Amino acid sequence: MLDDVDLLVCGAGPVGCVVAERAAAVLGWTVLVVDQRAHIAGNCFDSFHRTGVLIHNYGPHYFRTNDVGVLSYLSRFTEWIPAKYEVRSSVRGRLYPFPINLATLEQFYGTTLDPESGERLLRAARAAIPAPRNSEEFVLSRVGRELYEAFYLNYTLKQWGSHPRDLAPQVCGRIPVRLNRDCRYVDHRYQVMPRRGFTALFSKMLRHRKIRLLLDCPFREVRELVRPRRATVYTGPVDDYFGCSLGKLPYRSLKFEFVAHRAEYVQPCVQINYPNDFAYTRSVEIKHVTRQRHPETVVSYETPTATGEPFYPVPRPESSALYQRYRQLADEERARRNVYFCGRLAQYRYFNTDEAIKEALTCFQQIRQDCAPGRSPFASSSPTRAA
Ligand SMILES: Cc1cc2nc3c(=O)[nH]c(=O)nc-3n(C[C@H](O)[C@H](O)[C@H](O)COP(=O)(O)OP(=O)(O)OC[C@H]3O[C@@H](n4cnc5c(N)ncnc54)[C@H](O)[C@@H]3O)c2cc1C
Repeated sequence: MLDDVDLLVCGAGPVGCVVAERAAAVLGWTVLVVDQRAHIAGNCFDSFHRTGVLIHNYGPHYFRTNDVGVLSYLSRFTEWIPAKYEVRSSVRGRLYPFPINLATLEQFYGTTLDPESGERLLRAARAAIPAPRNSEEFVLSRVGRELYEAFYLNYTLKQWGSHPRDLAPQVCGRIPVRLNRDCRYVDHRYQVMPRRGFTALFSKMLRHRKIRLLLDCPFREVRELVRPRRATVYTGPVDDYFGCSLGKLPYRSLKFEFVAHRAEYVQPCVQINYPNDFAYTRSVEIKHVTRQRHPETVVSYETPTATGEPFYPVPRPESSALYQRYRQLADEERARRNVYFCGRLAQYRYFNTDEAIKEALTCFQQIRQDCAPGRSPFASSSPTRAA
């Protein structure tokens, strides 16, 4: 039995690294971090391909945020470079700016537009659906059938293995439609990349004499051996923690194929979507945002699958309902044994990286409050506030 650990952290992804760093640096706690993978940084992991090109191993991670607090916290561990996240969609053999903006509409309809005529065009194309109940209705009510079928329908089918009419409106609703010529993928105020990559950032975060790290170590191998004095932070899948006793939570997974080219660049921008062709959904040449100077390049092709590592929670009512039942167990575990469930797998919620970091900082504050002198770490009866 290992009993000199204050905090046990399952998962060396962004959430695990942040909570470990805060507990060691602010409270002086001894922290043990375990991860079943052979590396840190979770899905933000990046590494050097055999060509020497830096790649994002689990899909491109476009760091963006509006949260100055998160940005300044992360800035202790990295410098940043400005990033340009630009996506085009390949439709009928041509590349269109995506998300849809005025330039997309001009190219698609072969006309010249300003914001007013663009709005008129969309108004004429839109379906009259005042209260969309699903993603199909949502997109039809925003851009009409022709654009829906060209850009959204098949991409969503591939990505989720479900028809947009079976998915919540927010699934497609997150994608903006712009009546200007802004070709950026997202609208956030800060769009930056860690200068030396994400793995370097999280590695610096864990470099503390009070933090020990065990890789290739599934949680089940330590859960009975380590009795933390203060708390456990669990960032793995919530259903796994409870032995899937209520059933398995569904996830969408991805397969990645990396192809090297003897050329500095082969794509005009970082990401090309293929809504209507091929099994893969997108090709990504991450060099466009890492800005690495290298004579070769690597493009990744991303194919969605129903099985494999858990990546995206499935946005359906049945899965949310099942998660709520696990959440109740998690709340009880927190009250009984001071186990905090935090992160995208533990909360069964898709977070962008900045949101995951914010969750981790909030979780740390909660632990700190619960374990403040005079409060027994195991006396808390408030619900799981991993969120
Ligand atoms: C394909 C894809 C693309 C993305 N693109 C972006 C993007 O462009 N921009 C952005 O901001 N965010 C993006 N994200 C989101 C980002 O990856 C997450 O917000 C972030 O990784 C969440 O951090 P986390 O620590 O909660 O989870 P993770 O990064 O998943 O880390 C969890 C860690 O826990 C470990 N673990 C799990 N179970 C166990 C266990 N039983 N025992 C031991 N270890 C365990 C895992 O191995 C993993 O290392 C993307 C995510 C995916 C999947």
